[in-house]
Amino acid sequence: ARLVDSSADGEDQAIEAALRPKDLGEFVGQERVREQLDLVLKAARQRGGTADHVLLSGAPGLGKTTLSMIIAAEMGAPIRITSGPAIQHAGDLAAILSSLTEGEVLFLDEIHRMSRPAEEMLYMAMEDFRVDVIVGKGPGATAIPLELPPFTLVGATTRAGLLPPPLRDRFGFTGHMEFYTAPELERVIHRSARLLDVEIEAPGAAEIAGRSRGTPRIANRLLRRVRDYAQVKADGVITSEVAGRALDVYDVDGRGLDRLDRAVLTALLKLFGGGPVGLSTLAVAVGEERETVEEVAEPFLVREGLLARTPRGRVATPAAWAHLGLTPPGHGGA
Ligand code: ADP
Repeated sequence: ARLVDSSADGEDQAIEAALRPKDLGEFVGQERVREQLDLVLKAARQRGGTADHVLLSGAPGLGKTTLSMIIAAEMGAPIRITSGPAIQHAGDLAAILSSLTEGEVLFLDEIHRMSRPAEEMLYMAMEDFRVDVIVGKGPGATAIPLELPPFTLVGATTRAGLLPPPLRDRFGFTGHMEFYTAPELERVIHRSARLLDVEIEAPGAAEIAGRSRGTPRIANRLLRRVRDYAQVKADGVITSEVAGRALDVYDVDGRGLDRLDRAVLTALLKLFGGGPVGLSTLAVAVGEERETVEEVAEPFLVREGLLARTPRGRVATPAAWAHLGLTPPGHGGA
């Protein structure tokens, strides 16, 4: 597994529970979403009802699961966690929905990956708190209506645009989660260090933040690796120098690029003069599958403004040359 992958691995899952902010006040950044959600929840509490359905969109590791737990905590409600891919049949969803208690929060991660029949059942459940359970098959099948207690659905998706409009329209509130700024990530890191009982200096936190790709999950993961290094190779205190040396050992550079990202950029610059070069050619040059280059390395390189996808192929930006300390052809000093 890559250290800079933003999806959760087994180790993350175990430790993330301990690092999760428990209320909106502790949740770092995402000012707009936080402020809007605060209003939605306060209003619902004042009315003594359940909160509107909430859709959270954003990349993995930005805090969607955490926010759904905070919503439940702020409403004093239990939470049930499941995901689109786990719901294969409408019956799976019916079983979950019919076992919810009044006011419960249902967190549905990767809601865009639910099956079509389940999605249609969800429309009615969200709108009317009712589902039709189909009993039997063929011409003898009958739909038995089932009343549900009012509940709050919190859906999460990487992009709201992936959702069919009828589903999107049934959410009362949509929050778009942005990548975090470096100062916000520093706050996340200081908070996690306190919880993990690790001593960290401000420049040490800044060093880790700069390599975390705007993502709290990655920041927390890098912090744990740096802590190991500080414990074994230094006196346990995370200074800027310790953090920098540790992350160099783990092959995460000053901007959060790992070995694969740098291999792609290096090939693009050194072998193809910065491009344009076709994806397949680039993939062969780094000895990786096309899909790996396209889906694993490129999105972050594009986001960072280091690589551009053009109709003629992949092109390096001036920032890519600068990042790898190379001189673009035609700019050679002499
Ligand atoms: P997602 O569901 O979007 O993939 P999670 O909610 O699981 O992301 O968050 C991943 C980890 O990052 C959690 O351990 C959580 O502690 C941390 N985290 C995410 N957002 C924040 C935040 N705003 N403040 C502090 N920690 C955060």
